[in-house]
Amino acid sequence: MTFSRQRWLFLIIIFPVTVIIGCEDSEKTPDETVVPQDTTTKQDTFPSLGYDGPYYPDSVYYGREKYVEYYAGDLPIILSAPHGGRLTPDEIPDRTYGTTVTDDNTYELTKTVMDTMVARFGGRPHVILCRLKRTKLDANRDSVEAAQDDKYALRAWQEYHHYIGIAKKKIETDYGSGLFFDMHGHGRNPDGFYDLRNWLGYLLSGSELDLSDAVLNTNNFKNETSIRALVDSSSSSFIEVLRGANSFGAILDSLGFKSVPSVNDPGPGGMRYFSGGYNTVRHGSKNGGMISAIQVEAPKPGIRENQTTWSKYSSAFVSTIYIYYTRHLKRNLSN
Ligand SMILES: [Zn+2]
Repeated sequence: MTFSRQRWLFLIIIFPVTVIIGCEDSEKTPDETVVPQDTTTKQDTFPSLGYDGPYYPDSVYYGREKYVEYYAGDLPIILSAPHGGRLTPDEIPDRTYGTTVTDDNTYELTKTVMDTMVARFGGRPHVILCRLKRTKLDANRDSVEAAQDDKYALRAWQEYHHYIGIAKKKIETDYGSGLFFDMHGHGRNPDGFYDLRNWLGYLLSGSELDLSDAVLNTNNFKNETSIRALVDSSSSSFIEVLRGANSFGAILDSLGFKSVPSVNDPGPGGMRYFSGGYNTVRHGSKNGGMISAIQVEAPKPGIRENQTTWSKYSSAFVSTIYIYYTRHLKRNLSN
């Protein structure tokens, strides 16, 4: 399908940003879903990754035992939610080290962002969701820490990144470049303070973000980020893309959700902040390629609390993607 800039503009104008897209998905919530027990699944070998392709937009694909869920898309946008799963199958032992905290409701939030994009643009982002609880698999770590020697967890990890790889290839072929969002949620800081800002991770540390514009606005810092390709494509300078008026954080802030970095909150100010994990490194453009990545850490209050809050957030988030994409990657908007 083709979606022209005019169509994006038309849709963005006629749909107010406060429209709440209700979740009309009638499927059971993940913790209620009965995963079919396959008595033949205790195998040591698996089909080659990609055996279930080719992947058609509007279709959903599942990895083994439905631990991983992939909605194939046709827009130049990828959404990934590695920490929102709830499945705790007996066949996979609990992980024994690393973080195991679930990012509450990020599975639902990410699907609502997808539904909002479909309703507003008529096209689909690529969406990859891990349905395993983080006690069983961490899809935002390298394979060793992620799966901790369990072959079923490892298979799910491989499927997760395989689907992302498929999405990236299709976008680079159809559009030349695109955006990857790794969707997370942050809780209270260890000292009890709850930072209600969205933490947007570009692989720059909090102390680097606390540097002045003059010090930070260099090619060296730009080349360290997960949006390197996007900055190279943009007519704006690195610091403008990172935290100027047309930055993702500033646009999201202007739509009601405070974010770091942005014009109003250029850095975390010495406070706790997550700069981006394994997925942002692997699937962003720091090390090449044309897909740029942002790790999104949303607080729970006002966003991940219930369907009303995450629908409102999704509406603002999708508007932000649209504005950010067209301002910085406009030359590849139509396929
Ligand atoms: Zn997370």
